[in-house]
Amino acid sequence: VSAEPPPYAQGTAYLGGEFLPAAEARVSIFDHSYLYGDGAFENVAFRRRRFYALEAHLDRLEDSCAYLKLALPLPREELGRVCAEMLERNDLDDGYMRVVVSRGEGYPSLDPRRAESPQLALALQAGSPAAAAPPGRRLVIGSTRRTPPASLDPRAKLNNYGNHIVAKLEAIAAGADDVLMLDSAGMVSELSAANVFVLRNGELATPPPGTILVGITRATVLALVGDGLVEGVRAVERPLTPLELYAADEVIFTATAIGVACATEIDGRAIGDGEVGPVCTRLRELYERALDGDAAVAAATLA
Ligand code: PMP
Repeated sequence: VSAEPPPYAQGTAYLGGEFLPAAEARVSIFDHSYLYGDGAFENVAFRRRRFYALEAHLDRLEDSCAYLKLALPLPREELGRVCAEMLERNDLDDGYMRVVVSRGEGYPSLDPRRAESPQLALALQAGSPAAAAPPGRRLVIGSTRRTPPASLDPRAKLNNYGNHIVAKLEAIAAGADDVLMLDSAGMVSELSAANVFVLRNGELATPPPGTILVGITRATVLALVGDGLVEGVRAVERPLTPLELYAADEVIFTATAIGVACATEIDGRAIGDGEVGPVCTRLRELYERALDGDAAVAAATLA
């Protein structure tokens, strides 16, 4: 008697050249992503069966793979076609698609030349940022520093999330919703899986690329604000200190899986008046419209 698959393993997945039931998609214990985190991934939103910013995600995936000297298992055009076919084969209107490229199977050393067949996997999840947890979250600044680019370039979205997991454990131990990570110089970097913005006196500032994963939702927010869609607010990329987090009018964070959310509290200090602020609310609304393909905002974004 086969049990009903868990919610995340419903529908049709893609693995190594074929479509198959997600619950039956299995990877070898000798796969280098399993053994060493040797691979890269993306999480792409779709709404009403249309991907949001798919090309930007595939560009970033290509960059991550180039960093690992890992060949894309499919030519880029073919990859786009297989992604589109995932939406055709599944009965889901809104959700997320996980795209994973692994070095593939090989043993017994981390030498990438041992694994000769990189493998692509795709799986869909139901859901949407609007349906996710309420936008106001309690954060702590963790003691775990973000991996410096001299050790591992944070721009690459790799299957190894050890740095973020150790940081997230700090948030859990502190009873907080998530963790803010500083870089090795003590400047603000990002959350465990989201980019951060600080609003003060109409300036919406976010750390520049360097010690962060350069998020696609972050780029959307920069484009929306840059296009004047949030009245009285201008966006800049500049280094930020922890003090600026505590003293902010609003602290906003962004990720594909979260959309736009904000911190109502950091390290026990209320941010602004401790409620979800007006700029967070406005950006949430604009981001929803961008996902929906609303022409008035789509022109400003990457859709
Ligand atoms: N930083 C990290 C470390 C992440 O894992 C994510 C989520 N992918 C982000 C930022 C946000 O990136 P995006 O907006 O492209 O989802």
